[in-house]
Amino acid sequence: MIEVFKPRAVPLGGLRAMRVDRVMPQRGLPTVGAWCFLDSFGPKDDRMRVLPHPHTGLQTVTWPLAGEIRHRDSLGSDVLVRPGHLNLMTAGHGVSHSEFSVSDGPLHGIQLWVALPADRAAMAPAFEQHTELPVYQDFATVLMGSLGDVTSPATTHTPLVGADLTITGAVVVPLRQEHEHAVLAVTDVTVAGVELRRGHLAYLGTGRHELDLSAENGRALLLGGEPFPDELVMWWNFVGRSHDEIAAARAAWQAADDRFGHVAGHDGARIPAPGLPGVRLTPRQTRR
Ligand code: MN
Repeated sequence: MIEVFKPRAVPLGGLRAMRVDRVMPQRGLPTVGAWCFLDSFGPKDDRMRVLPHPHTGLQTVTWPLAGEIRHRDSLGSDVLVRPGHLNLMTAGHGVSHSEFSVSDGPLHGIQLWVALPADRAAMAPAFEQHTELPVYQDFATVLMGSLGDVTSPATTHTPLVGADLTITGAVVVPLRQEHEHAVLAVTDVTVAGVELRRGHLAYLGTGRHELDLSAENGRALLLGGEPFPDELVMWWNFVGRSHDEIAAARAAWQAADDRFGHVAGHDGARIPAPGLPGVRLTPRQTRR
């Protein structure tokens, strides 16, 4: 049984909002393993201008397909990330960052969040960039976790996989039967016999030990992992497990508390948090 989810266009915060296609989370699709958020943008001539903003309880994974993005964070990182390179920022208890595209020409890429397990959710923040990622059988770049016997050097906190698949003809991807999986079509691709339109996501569930994909000249993102045990409260840029946790993070950001540090180079400009809704935030239902 394959369930297909479509993205919705949402503005990405910044001086001039750019629109991105958000396919996760949505109703019926709170997480795939610990993957809890999936945006894709472009390909089009666009500028990413996202001023400093905070995160908690998650890792951000940035994977450009075209164009370069400058990342600056409260840990002092100031790096360019370009196609083939992975930026991984672990927010833990709190971090803040900004992201600006710096190249001319089309911008195309993917941004994901990975929820941290309860015992690591408040860990110290960290940033890493990987310019060399391993490739499974010449067609799958392993961004996070493991695919078959190939493991990414990126730091993970739960068993998972994230891989960028280049599909010329037909390929077979090994899966872990006890994990749940999903495929995002970066271009139109056929996934286990189902034609998946560009930007759509196929949720595959658990219990598969391999997956057939085909396309004349296609690209897709494979995501998977151990089904995430916790119901998450996700609001704005925060991942937590209760309303009070999120409210405390929001208050700390609004107060410019040390919790989120300082991102150099923006003269104090930052994205203010929106107001909390008038009701208590509740967790997204898990699929189980
Ligand atoms: Mn961010």
